[in-house]
Amino acid sequence: MVTALHTQLDLVRDYVNTLDFETGIDRISSPDELAMWFSEQGLVDDLVEPTDEEHTDALAVREAIRELLLANNGVSADSDGASKTLESAGREARLGVRFENGLPVLAPETEGARAALGRIVATVAELAPTDEWKRLKTCRDENCRVAFYDKSRNRSRAWCSMEVCGNREKARSFRARHAASPS
Ligand SMILES: [Zn+2]
Repeated sequence: MVTALHTQLDLVRDYVNTLDFETGIDRISSPDELAMWFSEQGLVDDLVEPTDEEHTDALAVREAIRELLLANNGVSADSDGASKTLESAGREARLGVRFENGLPVLAPETEGARAALGRIVATVAELAPTDEWKRLKTCRDENCRVAFYDKSRNRSRAWCSMEVCGNREKARSFRARHAASPS
């Protein structure tokens, strides 16, 4: 079943994954591409025209979220820096509390790219207190850093895929162990 919560989790995961660390391919490498992505995700009604500054801020927000998801994976991350970036984006979007059917939600009081980015920050803010949030992680492999949702029962998954990143790590620690022990 697809719940609103899962839609929110998907949005955050997909935003982080607009950059593929391994290939360097960035789906939002320009303001135009960013506008397209916001539109595809339904974060804006019309195509917006982000300024260069808004585009730079959007990339900073993406990396800030990646840091938080790394912290969810038990890796010490720059959580303070990430928090400041998200707070600033929230301020720029003028996030305010609105009540929808009696329930408080955070909503931007600006329009355009700032508002779209504000909606992403609001989504993070709404997810952060939930148990589900802790399952949203970035891969522990520093060359990968893909965001994924950990469905394991005890929330212990460290890598986006055991086949690729998990095995790479196993091979590394195997080599390290053998290099350290006298033959
Ligand atoms: Zn990975």
